[in-house]
Amino acid sequence: MRPRRAKVGASRSNKAIFVDRDGVLNDLVYNEEEGRVLSPFSARETRVFPFVAGAVRALRDELGFKVIVISNQPGVSKKQFTLKELEKMNSKIRRELAKGGTRLDGEYYCLHHPEAIIKKYKVVCDCRKPKAGLLLRAAAENGLDLKKSYFVGDGLIDVEAGRRAGCRTILVGHMSTFITDLMEKENVTPDFMVSSFKDVPALLRTLDS
Ligand SMILES: [Mg+2]
Ligand SMILES: [Zn+2]
Repeated sequence: MRPRRAKVGASRSNKAIFVDRDGVLNDLVYNEEEGRVLSPFSARETRVFPFVAGAVRALRDELGFKVIVISNQPGVSKKQFTLKELEKMNSKIRRELAKGGTRLDGEYYCLHHPEAIIKKYKVVCDCRKPKAGLLLRAAAENGLDLKKSYFVGDGLIDVEAGRRAGCRTILVGHMSTFITDLMEKENVTPDFMVSSFKDVPALLRTLDS
């Protein structure tokens, strides 16, 4: 079914949905060496969730938000993968969106890490989440009103970064005891919680009306 709402279009909008990448647009990967789930280290491991294009299309065409990726990618600095491989992962996401008839309005990555192996990335920067640097840069470069924007992420660092930038925040995940304990311990609480990125358009429709 086509949405009844008229297309408002994202390109000239001053509000954005900022999205974290790993765990929101693509699945996390079980890493045997580490014994836990991590961000993918290769394009081959990058599995874009099947609902992502539909959700991005609704956010842009129906609800009139720009959609901008905000992601920490310290893997290059730790030699877990190359810059070229990171670009391949990101191209794969872009390709999936194009197949679904939509696109991102921007992508911002922090490549730094205080414990980087590659020297040029070994800095304490102002863009690594939970710092707000990437959001502030994205807002300045795209003419965005942060108060009208939302940050969607699956980590409390995303909630923290969004809050520091003055956005509203949406945490992707399940209200487990683990996450509620962590919220309390870190004193970081999102404005909204959804179980998956695909639920974000429906949430925003209810706030909009
Ligand atoms: Mg994440
Ligand atoms: Zn950085």
